[in-house]
Amino acid sequence: MTAIASLTAPEPHADLNTLSDADFRATIGRWIATNYPQELRSPPKRLHAAEAMPWYKILSLQGWVAPGWPREHGGMGLSPSKLLIMFEEMERYGCARLPDTGLTMVGPLLIAHGTDAQRAYHLPKILSGEIVWCQGYSEPNAGSDLAALRTSAVREGDQWVINGQKIWTTLGMDAQWIFVLARTDQQAAKQKGISFFLVPMDTPGVKVRPIVNIDMHDEFAEVFFDDVRIPADSIVGEVNSGWTTAKNLLGFERLFLGSPKQSEGALDHLERLCDHLGKSADYASLLNGLRMELEDHKSFYKTFADKVRRGETLGPDVSMLKINQSALYQEITDRILEVAGELGTLAGPLLDAPTLYPGSVFLQARPTSIYGGSSEIQRNIVAKQVLGLGR
Ligand SMILES: Cc1cc2nc3c(=O)[nH]c(=O)nc-3n(C[C@H](O)[C@H](O)[C@H](O)COP(=O)(O)OP(=O)(O)OC[C@H]3O[C@@H](n4cnc5c(N)ncnc54)[C@H](O)[C@@H]3O)c2cc1C
Repeated sequence: MTAIASLTAPEPHADLNTLSDADFRATIGRWIATNYPQELRSPPKRLHAAEAMPWYKILSLQGWVAPGWPREHGGMGLSPSKLLIMFEEMERYGCARLPDTGLTMVGPLLIAHGTDAQRAYHLPKILSGEIVWCQGYSEPNAGSDLAALRTSAVREGDQWVINGQKIWTTLGMDAQWIFVLARTDQQAAKQKGISFFLVPMDTPGVKVRPIVNIDMHDEFAEVFFDDVRIPADSIVGEVNSGWTTAKNLLGFERLFLGSPKQSEGALDHLERLCDHLGKSADYASLLNGLRMELEDHKSFYKTFADKVRRGETLGPDVSMLKINQSALYQEITDRILEVAGELGTLAGPLLDAPTLYPGSVFLQARPTSIYGGSSEIQRNIVAKQVLGLGR
């Protein structure tokens, strides 16, 4: 029987932790179906901040934009199990990814390591969507080996002066603030001399240059820092402790990088493409094989999701999930290109089928084996930390 709580629309900012998981899922699912802007359903590309903002604001008004933050800081304070349900329901409905760097990285960072003044200034602006954040970690010669970063921050009086360059900064053109890892001690061992800074993008000396990817989408940017002066209190945590702080930010996201959703969406695309081109019979065996691989991956994902539900910490073996997800997603999109033939050279939709865009789907799957730690780096983690090889 469905509980009353799942039949009524929840009051904004109500505490939903008291609902059973089943009621919570029903409540969230129904609320999303009622409130999600239909024109943003399952967008073919990552939306720019301005495009996703209507959905951000709807969630913000309901008090649901930061489900993982504690309630005293304006979040929903959800348990891991309910947080997972919330994300699953959003994925299931095809909700667009928000400009979520502030929500998933900066907010939790400030809650854990920020000063009262940093929290008081930044958290409300993240919750309302007034400030969009981007992440300034990677540099032209510091990606997988992030500790090789060379952007520097030097203390001069009551200011820090930043010089250097970041690259692959997602939403770099849309953001008003960037969080930056910079070297504050040139002599210390690589990981030890790094600090964490909050920088407004309109500070003199910050320059942003969009990077257009192979799918003609300007989803990321290069960000240059030329004698950028910021107040001394723009640092988060202790001087030279930025590496530990940055590593602590990795949590739940490692599970979501392995979610079967992208592969599921791609397989659906492949099936519809086969239908549209009259090739379903020719590809029946291949489609069946991919369906089974997807089921395999889903049950693999479930073993990790169940750990999160039980409140357990994910170990280094979660790297296998991301490797598997990237490989399957790319395999399915390889087949999309094969089935599309010459139509796969189109980056946009097919002229006679506007919901099919095989070229784009293929290209979008490429970066999954790079971001969030490349597949090679994940394999190194599995080899060393799971299998104990090379010690
Ligand atoms: C879509 C997308 C969005 C991104 N968004 C952001 C962002 O917002 N902010 C940000 O800071 N960064 C972002 N990045 C950057 C991302 O973190 C880096 O691309 C990633 O860390 C890899 O670094 P790299 O590109 O410098 O490649 P490299 O580290 O130069 O690697 C090149 C190749 O060598 C392999 N390799 C490197 N080291 C080893 C090793 N030790 N053993 C075996 N193989 C190795 C890699 O696997 C890869 O195949 C984004 C990247 C992408 C693709």
